[in-house]
Amino acid sequence: MLVVGKNSNLARTRYHKKQAIHVKDTYRHKGLRRRLIGELQKKGISDERVLEAMGALPRHFFLDKAFEEWAYEDKPFPIGSEQTISQPYTVAYMSNLLNVQPREKVLEIGTGSGYQAAVLALMGGRVYTIERHESLYVKAKEMLHSLNMGNIRCFHRDGFKGLPEFAPFHKIMVTAGAPEVPEALRQQLAIGGLMVIPVGKNAQKMHCIERIDETRYDEKIMGDFRFVPFLKGVEKG
Ligand code: SAH
Repeated sequence: MLVVGKNSNLARTRYHKKQAIHVKDTYRHKGLRRRLIGELQKKGISDERVLEAMGALPRHFFLDKAFEEWAYEDKPFPIGSEQTISQPYTVAYMSNLLNVQPREKVLEIGTGSGYQAAVLALMGGRVYTIERHESLYVKAKEMLHSLNMGNIRCFHRDGFKGLPEFAPFHKIMVTAGAPEVPEALRQQLAIGGLMVIPVGKNAQKMHCIERIDETRYDEKIMGDFRFVPFLKGVEKG
């Protein structure tokens, strides 16, 4: 069983009293979460920091009330604007690969519900996250703010362009299925940095890209996944 240390980021988190979204993290939720963490361990996730972060973070806060019952199933769920919160196994797998170290600058593309950004922040990253849907951006920003996660900055932008003014990043994670690896994201990766990105149109293969020097990248192709598409431009409203 995982216990979150007194000094972990979430232990320092104060839940906002006026928060509109449901904020109760009951013993039942905690029990279901522990069971999910056990399942992830059985599926091969071994990084204690990933398990600790996901064990501490109430996933049901990031889902609509209607799906609360299923928040601790290992499944993706709709979050509005035809988008989904990723399956916990996928979040754990990608976080494991990215191996965020305390204080590293991390860029996430595809904020969605904000859950993955929160996991990366609980691992100690200084997280910058971009979402193209304005309504999702607003909702996630409010949620992360209400959890007092000051080490996450949200942006309503087109992720294909990254965030040049804050580059370079030690780590980059893309959480939508990309037709190809955007050149701007390669350029914004620090030398020695790592990018995890699912590449493919209908189904994706996870790519893990390490920047060797100014011009060279080492690219490993891992398992199969299915993501919502990485689309150009932004959506208002
Ligand atoms: N990481 C999310 C799950 C994301 S689903 C979570 O933890 O909940 C993928 C998200 O990527 C969707 O919200 C989608 O709107 C967003 N997205 C797709 N293309 C994008 C782009 N070009 N720029 C920014 N976000 C994008």
